Amino acid sequence: MRRLGILALLLTLTAALLRGSLAGAAGPSPSPNELGRVMILEYHKIDYPEERWTRTPENFRRDLETLYARGYRLITLGEFLDGRITLPAGTTPVILTFDDSSPGQFRYLEQDGNLVVDPKSAVGILEAFGREHPDFGRGATFFVLPAADPPNRLFNQPEHVGRKLQFLVSRGYEIGNHTLWHANLGKYDEATVRAQIAGAQEWIQRYVPDYRPRTLALPHGVYPRDVSWALRGSAKGMTYSHDAILRVSGGAAPSPFSSAYDPARLPRIQALESELTYWLRYFDQRPLERFVSDGEPGVITVPAALQGRLRENLKNVRVVERTTGR
Ligand SMILES: [Zn+2]
Repeated sequence: MRRLGILALLLTLTAALLRGSLAGAAGPSPSPNELGRVMILEYHKIDYPEERWTRTPENFRRDLETLYARGYRLITLGEFLDGRITLPAGTTPVILTFDDSSPGQFRYLEQDGNLVVDPKSAVGILEAFGREHPDFGRGATFFVLPAADPPNRLFNQPEHVGRKLQFLVSRGYEIGNHTLWHANLGKYDEATVRAQIAGAQEWIQRYVPDYRPRTLALPHGVYPRDVSWALRGSAKGMTYSHDAILRVSGGAAPSPFSSAYDPARLPRIQALESELTYWLRYFDQRPLERFVSDGEPGVITVPAALQGRLRENLKNVRVVERTTGR
């Protein structure tokens, strides 16, 4: 009997090890959990050397490789806000954002009389990675500064501003509002706050007529005295309306299907080596916290253990039991 017991234990251990190694590779998909949290990554400069607010092109590329290998797939902020997450079963959405329109985010080079996207700029790296891994998904939101001092004024190549903004929109990237010149919105009265936001949108629309920035990223993460000033309104004949306001920190964002979801206060994760490592490990250790798609855009699949966290008035919710941690 005792020997049988040991044999059973060994078999169980072997099975567990096998499961572990399979899951570590391209193994079985984790169970769907559409109440998990989503990383909205926040990049600033893509340049040299690596610093607090700078990620090198090589490290940015490596971030994409790491995310891809671990089953993360790109969606846009707009898709997240709409709860329109059309990823394959078993994959996890991740969102990229870039603040302050610095030159390394999007640079054109002249080669033999032609303009090419600098392969070492963020847009060049994203485009190349997308070509090599078409199933990685597409998208990123660029929170631009139209009236900042150089080098942060719309990626710092004045002659190519229109071409760049139009390229972004045509390729499925999003342009977000970050005020005219990074104004600390907590310091100003209502008229100035509104003029900063409407003014930035007016600049964007000079190059991309009718484009409506859906989101605002708060400069310095500071809210105006009344959050409604940042959400919608008008100034100088320009009407703006934002579906979300993004902070500069706060961790992973609640699922858009969660009762904790608040689009006026969306948290982000600064894309530093230490933060990325922390959050990837966080989700490895807490599978119930990680958003995992069910592969069915019309259905919201949630583990029974998290059912209580669902937002009200959702349609097509499916509750599933999870027998293991995965
Ligand atoms: Zn900023």
